[in-house]
Amino acid sequence: MIAEIIAAGSEMLTPTRQDTNSLFLTSGLNDLGVQVAFKTIVGDNLAHLTSAARIAISRADIVLLTGGLGPTEDDLTREAVATALGVEIHRDPTLLTELYKRFAARRMTMPPNNAKQAEIVAGATILPNHNGSAPGQFIDTVVDNHRKIIILLPGPPKELKPLFTNQCVPLLAQSLPPRHLSRRLLRMALIPESQVDARTSPIYLQYPDVETTILSGTAEIQLHFVCAKPTQAEADQRIDELTTRIEAEMEDTLFSSHGESLEEVVLLNLGLRNLTLATAESCTGGLLAQRLTAIPGSSRYFLGGAVVYSDALKTTFAGVPEDLITTHGPVSAEVAHALAKGTLARTHASLAISITGIAGPGPGEPGPDANKPIGLVYIGLATPTNTHVTELNLTGDRDRIRWWASQHALDLIRRHIL
Ligand code: ATP
Ligand code: MG
Repeated sequence: MIAEIIAAGSEMLTPTRQDTNSLFLTSGLNDLGVQVAFKTIVGDNLAHLTSAARIAISRADIVLLTGGLGPTEDDLTREAVATALGVEIHRDPTLLTELYKRFAARRMTMPPNNAKQAEIVAGATILPNHNGSAPGQFIDTVVDNHRKIIILLPGPPKELKPLFTNQCVPLLAQSLPPRHLSRRLLRMALIPESQVDARTSPIYLQYPDVETTILSGTAEIQLHFVCAKPTQAEADQRIDELTTRIEAEMEDTLFSSHGESLEEVVLLNLGLRNLTLATAESCTGGLLAQRLTAIPGSSRYFLGGAVVYSDALKTTFAGVPEDLITTHGPVSAEVAHALAKGTLARTHASLAISITGIAGPGPGEPGPDANKPIGLVYIGLATPTNTHVTELNLTGDRDRIRWWASQHALDLIRRHIL
């Protein structure tokens, strides 16, 4: 079962207005186990709209049209669908009476144009519109021996949404074979998309009944899986089988098997082991602390931290020896080491993390850092028994380097705990 959505309206072919109805409809269709295979935006032109409707009816099982149900000359959807199906349009007397009443209730006479909104494509079921004057229409028909469902919906989102949810969804659910969806989101940190695809495609290609989507974010890759089956158990079982194999393959970089963020996973693991964390950040300026504190409940395991941007504060806050900074430069393994260790001593956390680096766009401070490359970052991780420093050579602009540094820091904590 595939669907096509046609958004009618010339305004959506300009740079200023977007078709958002189709996003809403896609989500509702997906929940019914129906994939959207095509989306079309057509201007208010009868020939174009008829041609789009004809193509959609020929290639999709379900066609949803939005907009163009109003009373004006450029509202052409009913006519286009009737022409594409080769059927008549007739004026529904009950609808016409309701329209007159609607106007009368507002002490207005109905302009003759509005009678157009009582026009029904032959064979359509009327879907009453409680938020506007143009009803929706639901056509369940056979074209060239294939069953086709064609749905006409008003353009204004506040009319379309309740009409779709309250009236179309139940009708569609009745008309379609029962489908249940199972979804899963796996997330991986610090790995290129091409590598994820090269390693996982030999597995997921064996599951043509599961839709796999790879999305790349900043310093993370997401693998989305969706499967539709007649029963929930079948769909879940299929997704479980595939994701178990993918998880095994990607074990080294996978941080989440049910969609949790890296911050959430870190906090969860700190909590499971009853550990606390403190931070001292230079080039990330508190980004790591910000990401952790964005998670509700983080205060139980994240004690806090400092933005130790100046050399002086590295010494005042974490007791980094001044001569260490002057000899090696603030961006050095030695300083990252002392900063993590000092932060641990100062805060009595179970783990302390330090980040110092050159985020650009300018070079490092005059002195030992002057010739160090942009993107050089040191992350120190201190525990009561051991302190370890990781050197990174990151690329990209300032924002990217800062985000990647915070991502590496979170991943180092995660790996350390595990
Ligand atoms: P009306 O009776 O208001 O004329 P209609 O069914 O004819 O309704 P349109 O005239 O096509 O619908 O659109 C009316 C308004 O609805 C547009 O100005 C726009 O704000 C909104 N709209 C239409 N189509 C979409 C869409 N695909 N996505 C988001 N908004 C839309
Ligand atoms: Mg209109």
